[in-house]
Amino acid sequence: NIKSSLIVVSNRLPFVLKKDPKTANLRRVASAGGLVTAVCPVVIKGNGLWVGWPGIHSSKPLYDIPESDPNDHTPTAGLKSEQVVCVDADQEIFDSYYNGCCNGTFWPLFHSMPGRASFKEEHWRNYVKVNQYFADKTLEALERCHKRKNASQSVPIVWIHDYHLMLAANWIREKAEDADLPCQMAFFLHIPFPPWDIFRLFPWADELLQGILACDMVGFHIRDYCLNFVDCCQRNLGCRVDRKNLLVEHGGRSVRIRPLPIGIPFDRFVELAQGAKKIFETKQKIILGVDRLDYTKGLVHRLRAFEMLLERHPEHIGKVSLLQISVPSRTDVKEYQELKEEMDQLVGRINGRFTTANWSPIRYIFGCVGQDELAAYYRDADVALVTPLRDGMNLVAKEFVACQINPAPGVLIVSPFAGAGEMMHEALLSNPYEIGGAADVIHRALTMPEDERTLRMSRLRRREMECDVNYWMRSFLKAMGSIEEDEIGTT
Ligand code: UDP
Repeated sequence: NIKSSLIVVSNRLPFVLKKDPKTANLRRVASAGGLVTAVCPVVIKGNGLWVGWPGIHSSKPLYDIPESDPNDHTPTAGLKSEQVVCVDADQEIFDSYYNGCCNGTFWPLFHSMPGRASFKEEHWRNYVKVNQYFADKTLEALERCHKRKNASQSVPIVWIHDYHLMLAANWIREKAEDADLPCQMAFFLHIPFPPWDIFRLFPWADELLQGILACDMVGFHIRDYCLNFVDCCQRNLGCRVDRKNLLVEHGGRSVRIRPLPIGIPFDRFVELAQGAKKIFETKQKIILGVDRLDYTKGLVHRLRAFEMLLERHPEHIGKVSLLQISVPSRTDVKEYQELKEEMDQLVGRINGRFTTANWSPIRYIFGCVGQDELAAYYRDADVALVTPLRDGMNLVAKEFVACQINPAPGVLIVSPFAGAGEMMHEALLSNPYEIGGAADVIHRALTMPEDERTLRMSRLRRREMECDVNYWMRSFLKAMGSIEEDEIGTT
């Protein structure tokens, strides 16, 4: 019983539009991510809208969004074209906003890697511009929503997602007030929010905070990110804050800050694991890593730790392999190309050093793997290494435990610098910066008795089953007053 319509605003729509080479007609290609799976049904059910970029630049405004393909059975299929509002921008402006400011500045800065961040005024100006476009389109969506809203519904909720759109709420609030289109507004950040001493390096830091504070509620994955944000509001803007209740006074309003840790579609991963074919034909133990090839993921540190394991504990030689799946990401950016080079060389060096006629220490896949195949790896791996240098949450850690359905389960190793490390208490913690220590933790995982593994894994799985992505969605709606307290625990 959702009381209000939901207008989701995100950089990308839940599908991309592709041009059919033969007919030149546009068709939808749906996204299968957990977030879309949880959020889309709520938008559909409440007759809401989704505002975002469709993945192509068009010379004229895109109003005729194609309906979904009849064979599309993903949750986005139910989203009618009238529920979609496309945002477009000139390609050059969009590139500067997306690659320049979002990925070149905010991604490294918010992951506490300021040395990798560039601060260019031109990129910032284009970020402001694109956020204004998003605000204009959100107003269109809000108008449509108000026109068809029935009397029993509460005011719509505008829900803005992620670091691409930290300013949009500013103009949405202003214009919605002018046009007398009441709404509630919320923002959710999917990456970490850095400590003040890092955040303040950004030359236009105050504007960002003001943009976010135009919302009524602001969500982060974990309490630490909430506290970092509250700290920045107090120290940069001089806001009155209440750390205990996570409130920030701004513009005569009290903005609520909430930890809302995202979950995964747990049941879907269990089903995938139950149906997946066996892939490993070996008796050797498998240590698994699954990551986008990104400098925040600590991949070089991970390979060094594995090398150290073989040095310190040679009994694992010939018996244990590391399967590292690295998904190509931002491949046109120099830093990412350099990381790929470094990884290729390191894999080559370690394999050259230890490989025997019958065994290689590292199997390295540079490519994307489908979720069925991924579920088989997750299910049959003995150890999962989730060791980012910094990560907002990390879904791989959660997907691994969901798929661990074998009677003798494996072990999760997680970095304390991932949001996931905050709550997955039964995992082994490993500081990726300390190579020797990380090697010892892998050794401990490989030699852990079965009863301890079983106990740890069953607790990890129970938590992820209860706090899945639908729970996250309901927690958000509850925080916005759009569902009742007692609806939180029910699917
Ligand atoms: N993933 C995938 N195929 C792959 C590797 C990863 O579909 O070959 C998915 C994985 O299932 C997970 C997501 O990519 O849902 C990665 O999310 P995570 O939060 O771990 O990291 P991000 O890439 O968002 O930083």
